[in-house]
Amino acid sequence: MRREKGLLIVLSGPSGVGKGTVCGALRKHDTHIQYSVSATTRNPRAGEEDGVSYFFKSKQEFERMIRENELLEYAQYVDNYYGTPRQYVEDTIAKGHDVILEIEVQGALQVKETFPEGVFIFLMPPSIKELRNRIEGRGTESQDLIDSRMTIAKDEIDLMDKYDYVVENDEVELAVERIKSIVTAENCKKERL
Ligand code: 5GP
Repeated sequence: MRREKGLLIVLSGPSGVGKGTVCGALRKHDTHIQYSVSATTRNPRAGEEDGVSYFFKSKQEFERMIRENELLEYAQYVDNYYGTPRQYVEDTIAKGHDVILEIEVQGALQVKETFPEGVFIFLMPPSIKELRNRIEGRGTESQDLIDSRMTIAKDEIDLMDKYDYVVENDEVELAVERIKSIVTAENCKKERL
């Protein structure tokens, strides 16, 4: 059964919870979901590739994209902009393919305003202590940045109620199975036929 429009799946949750790892694992399992590549003004980390990890933009270019309404949502996070290019998402859904966005909470709430029919999934850390361990373990941020990310994370967890689903990321493979089940169930909803 092929539906006219694909699902917009928004995977959100605090930085360090493992959204990227879970999305990467989901990608290996499930080839039918398409992944939206975000734009950002932050500098690339080692191993990150332009157009694959992110579209790396200057602040001027990002602000041009905002002015010209090229972003479905955007947010300022710590000291940088992050946003979802609109065209790719709209075109892919219109072709009947499901798309997943991996974004922080402010952006997810903006998408909820414009795409209330989206599926909003909050990825939850097993505990705050474990979240700090994961961010520290990544070794990519200074102590100040880690502290900022932890403060934001606590505010983000308070917004969990705004989501349709909460998935604990205790183990990546378990989290992936839970998300796959959600997508399957959403695709079977009679309202979507
Ligand atoms: P990082 O710098 O660790 O790659 O990302 C920082 C935060 O920005 C993470 O929570 C990540 O999910 C989020 N993020 C990545 N892309 C986007 C986007 O397009 N929009 C929004 N709102 N957040 C994003």
